[in-house]
Amino acid sequence: MSDKDFPTPEQVQKEFERFVRERFGGKVQIFAQQTRRSSDADDDDEDEVEEKKQDRSKFSFTLKPKDIKAHLDRYVIRQDEAKKALAIAVCDHYNHVQEDLRHKDYEYYKQNIMILGPTGVGKTYLIKQVARLIGIPFVKADATRFSETGYIGANVEDLVRDLVSQANSDVETAQYGIVYIDEIDKLASSLDGYGRDISGRGVQIGLLKLMEETEIDLRAGNDVASQMQAMVEFQRKGKVDTQVINTRHILFVVSGAFNELREPIKTRLNKNSIGFKTEEHQHGDDDLLSLATTQDFTDFGFEPEFIGRIPIRVSCRNLSSDDLYDVLKYSEGSIIRQYQRNFRAYGIEATFTDKALRCIAARAYQEKTGARGIMSVCESILRDFKFELPSTKVDKFTITPAVCNNPQAELRKLLKKPTASRLPIISPSAEA
Ligand code: ADP
Repeated sequence: MSDKDFPTPEQVQKEFERFVRERFGGKVQIFAQQTRRSSDADDDDEDEVEEKKQDRSKFSFTLKPKDIKAHLDRYVIRQDEAKKALAIAVCDHYNHVQEDLRHKDYEYYKQNIMILGPTGVGKTYLIKQVARLIGIPFVKADATRFSETGYIGANVEDLVRDLVSQANSDVETAQYGIVYIDEIDKLASSLDGYGRDISGRGVQIGLLKLMEETEIDLRAGNDVASQMQAMVEFQRKGKVDTQVINTRHILFVVSGAFNELREPIKTRLNKNSIGFKTEEHQHGDDDLLSLATTQDFTDFGFEPEFIGRIPIRVSCRNLSSDDLYDVLKYSEGSIIRQYQRNFRAYGIEATFTDKALRCIAARAYQEKTGARGIMSVCESILRDFKFELPSTKVDKFTITPAVCNNPQAELRKLLKKPTASRLPIISPSAEA
């Protein structure tokens, strides 16, 4: 059989999956053929390895903390302390990576990052923008995903494999990527009360291994697709190369709302310092999380080794209604621009008045989901406009407080105007 006649891994995989599903109901795990370690590599492979080593040293990072902060300022509103701390931590990390690549015996202690703060205030957005600026892959997952499935070790490793997919299978680039794990507080809080202590602890240990340094086989043991690929490769070449990714340079960022941590911190501070009470009145609960100590985290239920691997802690604050207005008006990633682009695709110019933006911000604030509330409020106001207007001759309209408060009535008024006459509906048969 020539190479041309040989089925592709995807075709073999499809066939195989169908067979497994029909025969065993999909509950079968397949393991790869004996894989070949790199020590068995022939001369060609050694050349390839050497080439890769040289590639690694091409990694170049020249940004300064202020460059990163300036980029973040364009997209993320407020969170100044978090931006500064992140900018410094990210620069330190990638400068270390660069040094580590240049000097073999370089002492290197990776400093992973924890971001604390309520939902929808920009925790993920900050890291996404950092990854975008540096041009490195980024993956996000919720910590709860791991405790629920039971496949503890395998799944945390999947995060690193996802990084490789994000980097279009470029393992070298993936090795400098960022893995972001949200809801990390759930791993600790699962320790008390619900009998899920083993999974929370198990996931922490799995993550700890990744955060330190380990090599992950890119072919997951329980992933049919990669196992089939290995089999096809074995049949083609008579061998299967082990493809691994090293986690030494991957930056891990974990985050969580840590609501249950506030009370113990408050109690500790009140016990230790009478002076704090005044500050508490000045700044409110927002500052509490930034005062969390390693002891607070271990008391909360984290393994000391795990928390020790995350020495950089940054906290994000709640966004006020004014902040949400700024998100709408000034963030380069504002959802308003997205709505305007959507309407522009139909030749419709949508304009938001400042008062309408204030109105949207005030309503979004009431949802108590940070900037996430903006999306649901905009959708509830504009959904019918998005549905109706593209089929009319309306080519501009303004979103005012009246539209925000009573979208249906304002839409009816707009549709009654002579300029809003309907465009003919194009049916597929008419087109043909
Ligand atoms: P979380 O803090 O829960 O990780 P995200 O960062 O995912 O929240 O925020 C969700 C979305 O809300 C972001 O994609 C972004 O569009 C918007 N957003 C959140 N916080 C901010 C902010 N501080 N400035 C600008 N946009 C924000």
